[in-house]
This record gives sequence, C-alpha cells and structure tokens, in this order.
Amino acid sequence: MRRMLKLFGALALVGAAALAWSFTAAKLPVSTSPLGALPKADPPPGMTLSGLPTGTMRSKAAFAYRGGSFREDRDFSMTAVLVRHPRGDLLIDTGFGRHVASHARTLPWLMRATTTYAAGEPAATQLARAGYDVARLSGLLITHAHWDHVSGLPDLVAPVWMNAAERQFVASGAQLASLMRSFGAVTVREYAWDGGPYLGFPRSHDWYGDGSVVLVPVPGHTPGSIAVFVTLPSGARYAFVGDLVWQREGLEIPAERPWMSRWLVDDDAARVRSGVSLMAAVHARFPEIVMVPAHDERAAAELPIFPASRG
Ligand SMILES: [Zn+2]
Repeated sequence: MRRMLKLFGALALVGAAALAWSFTAAKLPVSTSPLGALPKADPPPGMTLSGLPTGTMRSKAAFAYRGGSFREDRDFSMTAVLVRHPRGDLLIDTGFGRHVASHARTLPWLMRATTTYAAGEPAATQLARAGYDVARLSGLLITHAHWDHVSGLPDLVAPVWMNAAERQFVASGAQLASLMRSFGAVTVREYAWDGGPYLGFPRSHDWYGDGSVVLVPVPGHTPGSIAVFVTLPSGARYAFVGDLVWQREGLEIPAERPWMSRWLVDDDAARVRSGVSLMAAVHARFPEIVMVPAHDERAAAELPIFPASRG
C-alpha cells in the first residue's frame, strides 16, 4: 500500500512538472516559404472600417501564449468589425450578443473556471443606437464558429458566411460549436477558396473582387478558421487573424498557446503552429499590416470605434 502511494506521489509530481513546463517560453520557427509581393488592392472611395467592442473576458497572459505570466491579467477583447463598402457592408465576427449570459453556459466547465467575462453593448444595439440601416449589412462573416465569435449572430438579420470545412465542423457535433449549432434560424451561406495564393497562404477568397477584403484559410484552431486581410482607400492594411493567436505576442515571439489552452480549444495544434509560423513571417516582412488577433485589447484599441470609422 505504501509503495502504491509512493508511486502515485511520484506520478503526480511528474505530471505537475510536465504541466508547469508546458507554460514555459518556447519560440516557434518563422516560416521561410515565399510570401510574394504585397498584394494589389483597389478599395473604392467610401469604404471604411470600424470596431464594435462588445465586452471582455479576463484571463491570464500565461493561458494566451507560451511564456506569458500567471501574474499578468489580460482582458481579452470581444470585438466585431464593420466594413462599409459600396457593394454591401460586412460584419466580421459578432462578439457577445444580447443573450451572452445563456450562451456562456455552453462553455466547458474548465474554461468557465479559468475566465470571467464582462458583457458590454452588443453589436446590434450599437448599430441601432447610431441609426445604422441594417439593410446595408449584406453578410456576417465569422473567423470561426466558437461561441464568443457567433453570440451576436441571432441579433442581426443577414446571411452568415462560412466555408465548407467550418460548416462540417459545426455539423460534426463538436462541443465548442454547440452554440452555433443551436441557431436554427440563421441563414448560412458558403464561400469557396476560389482564389490563388495570397501572402504565402495557398488559397484565398476575394470578397468584393477588388482586393479590399481577402480571406485566407488558417485551419487548426477550428478546421475552417480564417484570417481576413482588409485594405482601406487610405492604403491602411489590417489582418484580422481570428483566434490563430489570442494575443499579439503569439505572432511577435512567435509562440503557440500553452498545452492546456491548446487541449481545450484547438482542433489541430500542429496546423495552428504552421499558420502562426506563416502569419509571423507576414508580420515580420510587412509590418505595415496591423495584425489584429480577435481577443487582443491593444489591437482592438487601434481600431476606430463605431460610429467612428477609418477610410
Ligand atoms: Zn476560438
């Protein structure tokens, strides 16, 4: 009996040491694949970009990227992004919606235990308050189908756009897509990867056909996760990278999420790693592209807050 206890004690120590090690700093390689030149874009006059903050989720830097501190609290932003374009407006992700309290209950218990959220004003409410004509909204584009990106979908009436891999992920019964699956009434439409390579990513989809909004696949966090490159008439460029990384350090170091976070939220950590390596290369080569991880508050603070906008 005593020998058994000793064995369990030793195993517990090894486990605890392995868990602690999984949070330590570890740099990922920066991809050396050819990125090509900065792609051309012809954004029309009148095209603008605005951020709509909808709340925050408090966690630790340690959970966001390897090497982050347990002593440092981070507020993860939940921001929807409005692109106004003469051919129809687009909302990229929705953040927290009007029913966030019930939506949060779909989270696995460990995620609820390691985070707390603070709901702000939902995107639909902000749009209505400013007198925005919702008929202008031609699409709701999600970077992926996790709850904190889709919670605001039922508040808005416009088709939700996904690629085939993400639709399959939602249909597969994955627990982290249960909220999306529960939205019976939303209209889902599918886009295809019908465009060529873009900044080293193998395929793309040019939303308006003018290069102003270009989607690329960054699978791994979910099978159909995407990044959205936006170029404004002023020449300003942004990359909305969804949850490829949670905080900018993920691309700057570059570093992946620690094991526990990967285990909780990533569908395929190896594919996330290669996406991070490639996006880190884009970031290093084209620093003029503002990288916006969906939950980085510093990045969100660089966006003009709706109804303000940048053209
Ligand atoms: Zn996610």
